[in-house]
Amino acid sequence: MSDFPTRITYAAACEIVDAVAIDRQRPPERCALPRAHGRVLAADVHAVLQQPPFDNSAMDGFALRHADLGDGDTTLELAGEQFAGTALDLHIGPGQCTRITTGAPLPAAADTVVMKENAAVDANRVRVLVAPGPGQHVRRAGEDSAVGDRLLQAGDVLSPSRVALCASQGMAELEVRRRPTVAVFTTGDELVEPGLPLRPGEIYNSNREQLMGLLRAEGLEPVAWPTLPDDPGTIESALRHAGNAFDLVITCGGVSAGEKDHVPALLQAQGRVRFWKVRMKPGMPLLLAEGGRLGDALFLCLPGNPVSVLATWLTLGRRLLDGLQGRREPRLRLHARLGTDWHKGHERLEFLRGRLHCGDDGVLRVEPNPADGSHRMRAAADSDALIVLAEGPRDYPVDSVVEVLPY
Ligand code: AMP
Ligand code: MG
Repeated sequence: MSDFPTRITYAAACEIVDAVAIDRQRPPERCALPRAHGRVLAADVHAVLQQPPFDNSAMDGFALRHADLGDGDTTLELAGEQFAGTALDLHIGPGQCTRITTGAPLPAAADTVVMKENAAVDANRVRVLVAPGPGQHVRRAGEDSAVGDRLLQAGDVLSPSRVALCASQGMAELEVRRRPTVAVFTTGDELVEPGLPLRPGEIYNSNREQLMGLLRAEGLEPVAWPTLPDDPGTIESALRHAGNAFDLVITCGGVSAGEKDHVPALLQAQGRVRFWKVRMKPGMPLLLAEGGRLGDALFLCLPGNPVSVLATWLTLGRRLLDGLQGRREPRLRLHARLGTDWHKGHERLEFLRGRLHCGDDGVLRVEPNPADGSHRMRAAADSDALIVLAEGPRDYPVDSVVEVLPY
C-alpha cells in the first residue's frame, strides 16, 4: 500500500498543489523597477504622490478662463507661454490666455483649454473659433489617485501597465516574491538531440525545448540537464544534485508504470510523494513530491508524451508556480462554443486541443482537433487552447459551451 494519494481527481490534485505551494511560498525580495516585469508583488503598493500631480493641459492650445468666452468668436490677449517641464507661476487676468502644451501646468485663474486647431493666432491676439466647454481639456490634480490610495495589491502580477503605474509614483524598487530556480530533466534511452543522427528506435528530444519555452514564457530562467538514460543510479545522482541546488526540479518521462520508469520508485524511496497519477487526459502519470533525502526542492514529474507535458504544465504546473509566487489573480479562463459535435467516451477529465476564433457575431468558438493522442504534437502545434471536458462520458453537440484555456 502506498502512503500517498494516487489516481486522484484533478480537483484533488489542485488542492494538494495549492497546499504545497502555500507551505513553500517564495520569500519577498526588493527588485529594481526595470527587472520587475512579470513578477508578483509581495506587498500592496500605495500612492505616495497624487496623480496628476498638478492641474495640467490635456492638449496643445491656449489656457483661458471659461467665463471670458462669449456666444460667438472671442478674441483674447496672449499673455505668455507655458510649456511642459517648468512651472512659471503664470497668472492670467480677464480677457487673457496663455499658449500651453500637453502636460504643462495650468496658469493660475485659467480653467479651460482650447485646442490649437480651434484657435487662430495673430500677433498677440488669439481668436477662439470653437468654444470649449467649461473645464475642457484640463486634467485635474489628483483625479487619478490621491496620496495613500492602494494602487496595487500583494499577489498582483506586474504587467507593463502596473510597472508604469509604479514608475509614475517615482518608485525605483518594488517588493516582489522571489522566483523559484528551476532545473529541467528529460529522461529516456530513446532520446537524441536535434541535429544529431538517429539510429533505429530512437526519437528526437522534443520535450526539453517545449518545457524550456513554457517556463521562459513565465519569466523563469530554467537550467536544462543533458538527457538522462533510463538508469536508476544515474537518475538518482542527477536528481539529488539538482534537488540540493534548485527550488523546483521538473522531470519528464519515466514516471509511469513501465519497466524503465524509475522516477516513482526513486521518489517513493527517497522523497515524500504528495500524489501520483491524476485522473486527467492527457497527463495521468503526473507525480508531485517533496525532495526529502534528495534535497529541499519540489519535484514535479511530468509524463513523457509531449502533449501530456503541455497539458500538465499549463494546468497543474503553472498552478504550482503561481502558488509559490503568491499570485492572487487566477489565469484567464474563457468559455467558447464547440465548432463540431464531439463524443467523449472515457471517464477522465480531458484537456483536448483546439483552435479558437471569434467571428463578427462576437461569439468565441473552438474547433477541437480530432488528433487527440498524447503523442500528436502536430495537433498541439496547430491549436491555441486546451478545451476542458468534464469527467464522465458525454456527447457534446455542436455549439455546446465549454471552458477553454488559451495557450
Ligand atoms: P515514458 O513516460 O518515459 O514512457 O514516455 C512516454 C512517451 O513519451 C514515449 O513514447 C517516449 O518516447 C516519449 N517521450 C519521453 N520523453 C520524451 C522527450 N523528451 N521528447 C519526446 N518524446 C518523449
Ligand atoms: Mg521513458
